[in-house]
Amino acid sequence: GQCVTHCPTGALRERDDTERVFEALADPDVVTIVQIAPSVRTAWGDQFGIEPDGDALGKLVSALRPMGFDYIVNTDFSADLTIMEEGTELLGHMEEESKKDAAARLPMFTSCCPGWVRFVKAHFPQLVDHVSTSKSPQQMFGALVKSYYAQMLGVDPHKVFSVSIMPCIAKKSEAALDSMRDACGDPDVDAVLTVREVTRMVREEHVNVQRLEPSDFDEPLGEGTGAGIIFGATGGVMEAALRTAHYLVSGSAPAGDAFSGVRGLAGRKEATFDLNGTPVRVAVVSGLANARQLCEDVLAGRATFDFVEVMACPGGCVGGGGQPIREGRESAGEKGGVLYRLDGAAKLRNSYENPSIVRCYEEFLGSPLSPLSERLLHTDHHAWSMPGEKDPCLV
Ligand code: SF4
Repeated sequence: GQCVTHCPTGALRERDDTERVFEALADPDVVTIVQIAPSVRTAWGDQFGIEPDGDALGKLVSALRPMGFDYIVNTDFSADLTIMEEGTELLGHMEEESKKDAAARLPMFTSCCPGWVRFVKAHFPQLVDHVSTSKSPQQMFGALVKSYYAQMLGVDPHKVFSVSIMPCIAKKSEAALDSMRDACGDPDVDAVLTVREVTRMVREEHVNVQRLEPSDFDEPLGEGTGAGIIFGATGGVMEAALRTAHYLVSGSAPAGDAFSGVRGLAGRKEATFDLNGTPVRVAVVSGLANARQLCEDVLAGRATFDFVEVMACPGGCVGGGGQPIREGRESAGEKGGVLYRLDGAAKLRNSYENPSIVRCYEEFLGSPLSPLSERLLHTDHHAWSMPGEKDPCLV
């Protein structure tokens, strides 16, 4: 299939989940809640001539409403939540590592890309304990939809069908992991739709896309900051995490673009930033060949970092395997640029400033890494094993 060349993650064939979603939409007893990932805004309208600007996401919300989704929420919110958890985890990790001999120190790796998590488990199992335990924004949202949000809406979590719209094929296998379920065994996310699938659904439903006016997400889980938006581009998770880590250690907001040194399309970027007097050495890689090289360098002691962001797709999720394919055009740079422009223009640019995040911790979770946060928002990467199939990342 088409995705073989575009998807470096091991999901050879795209499983079609549109029928399952149509069934849930048609069932009056089911409450459908759909989340939309940050990079979707840059691509979903490609085939309809919709510009990937500030209105693109609002127009998708308007396209989905008449299709029968009961609640439409924004993965930017849970990207901010991921940053709260992962930024806090990073500070703890750095403290632990600082107690070791310099030569024995290892970085913390990001965990939001399932293509990468799968890769590290297969090829560098000795590094798995250094991968952040924070679930990806997709999975964190799913876990909250069936707990906090269901409570807020007064609906039975068992009646909730949780859907996500993603740039990514690997997100389907992430959602299907046994370790991504609640105490009753219900999956955090019931169905993952790629951008290609959602585009097909919009067509099948004969939504008049040209006439769409942007509309708002359902609040309070419709709100994200600039930091959440840039999750879709290589370097974005790193920059977002450093902004919040800066606040957590210093109590003050970082300067606007203090951590912009990790932007850009290079497959491997390295930088050292000052975090309240402590130097933080970071690396950002995208593409699994670059990830492999970096892991080898780290293990051989040729490179030392505190925090490493890895995305399997070159350029990050904007170039993901579930995005529409534009023949002969590599558009990850262009699409990443859209996200950075939206971040630059956002009223709130730091995850800890998101009022819905503040409220969620106050009303429900307590604090980052609280027992409830650990139970719902973190995972054990050892809790599942690799399926026996041959991994195309190996060839
Ligand atoms: Fe999926 Fe993004 Fe990872 Fe690509 S980089 S595999 S789109 S999560």
